[in-house]
Amino acid sequence: MTLLRIDAGRMNDSRLLMIKSSIEKTLDNAERLNTELNSFLSIERESALNRASALDADSSELPLKGYPIAIKDNICTKGLRTSCGSRILENYHAHYDATAVSRLVDAGAVIVGKTNMDEFAMGSSNEGSAFGPVKNPWDITRVPGGSSGGSAAAVASGVVPAALGSETGGSVRQPASLCGIFGLKPTYGRISRYGLVAFASSLDNIAIFGRTADDVARVLGVIAGRDLLDSTSADVPVPDYSAGLSADITGAKIGVAKELFGEGLDPEVRQLVETAIENYRNLGAEIVEIELPHARYGIAVYYIIATAEASSNLARYDGVRYGFRAEEAGELRSMYFKTREEGFGPEVKRRIMLGTYVLSSGYYDAYYAKAQKVRALVKRDYLRAFEKCDFIATPTSPTPAFRIGERSDDPLAMYLSDVYTVSANLAGIPAISVPCGITDAGLPVGFQLVGNFWSEGPLLNMAARYSAEFPFTEKPSVFAD
Ligand code: GLN
Repeated sequence: MTLLRIDAGRMNDSRLLMIKSSIEKTLDNAERLNTELNSFLSIERESALNRASALDADSSELPLKGYPIAIKDNICTKGLRTSCGSRILENYHAHYDATAVSRLVDAGAVIVGKTNMDEFAMGSSNEGSAFGPVKNPWDITRVPGGSSGGSAAAVASGVVPAALGSETGGSVRQPASLCGIFGLKPTYGRISRYGLVAFASSLDNIAIFGRTADDVARVLGVIAGRDLLDSTSADVPVPDYSAGLSADITGAKIGVAKELFGEGLDPEVRQLVETAIENYRNLGAEIVEIELPHARYGIAVYYIIATAEASSNLARYDGVRYGFRAEEAGELRSMYFKTREEGFGPEVKRRIMLGTYVLSSGYYDAYYAKAQKVRALVKRDYLRAFEKCDFIATPTSPTPAFRIGERSDDPLAMYLSDVYTVSANLAGIPAISVPCGITDAGLPVGFQLVGNFWSEGPLLNMAARYSAEFPFTEKPSVFAD
């Protein structure tokens, strides 16, 4: 009896070393690489190590026990700062965990830090963060994409196997493509938005980055599903995503819309994505031609609806709630003005003004109401296309990672970074970005597969089969070992 007890104690000791020491290494890597990449806004050494020790001491089986994960800084984490990359929330500490976060923690994951992002998730390069840009681990003179660029860089640089980001118009898929990793935007309603700071509520999703499709599947399996705290979360059963990864994909029908491979598409990206589609054919998939006639209105529609919703959602940052208030602000109205003037950055102000304009009386019908109608047409295009195919393949981003500063003075050029991604958000359907190659300049490129409602499982299966047969093995120059 006594001997047995001693052995159990020893076993506990070695387990204690296991999770704690691996999390320690993750934290060391995060700190070391952050000086170069600026991917984390906070690295939570103390809480992560406490959690790791508690997990080591606990003998229960958990699906993500000891799994290190990074969380975008617009997802609430109890007791940790949630700044949204903004001065106006610089010292905001949420009083509660987002449902996705509490599910991860309950499953044994360890949150190692909060990641940098474009302010309020508005942007495609991460240059819009109030706390400095994130650098792309493949080339630190280039952007990682945005707005979830910090999470993308944290995964791409090998610090964490997976990270949460958020998607309103492509903010996980686009940086995933620019950083050479996997990025999944689920069906609207698949993951609870409770605790995700709202940007444009009809488009917002929590979304997932992973070094492999399996990492994405494991995280999705834990966080997906109905949540009573978010009435838009859907009561749709959550399958075992990991178990479905290796299913045979012979006979899968992939739709290709010619109009998406034309103007504005970088020739190297085009070639790599076309090769990926050919590779699928060699894996037994059937390629069919489809049409998405309203896809070209996606950007215009998105930047009306997203800004309209943002102008409403961001009205709550008024200097009364959430902390930041301009000094010597005077009476109430001037306090509002000064606080918002000082607290918000230029892109957020541009969006609030655009959104207020498209909602104003006299312009509402011409812009907002019209955009809602076109949104319905964009969705209808997809539903029609899915009568002919199971998935739609496109590039994820029209170009590889661009240079820091290259588009920062040209909002329209920046908005066009999302040309292939926004319409899945408008339609509410899932899509994944899968790394498929590298340009002559050594920059990664991804392709996108869009699926019908609730097809996250088949999308992950397609991604996993592709990467099993055509692995993307290159590593960025900034990489943790
Ligand atoms: N880049 C797009 C924008 O600036 C999408 C942002 C997002 O998905 N959060 O709005």
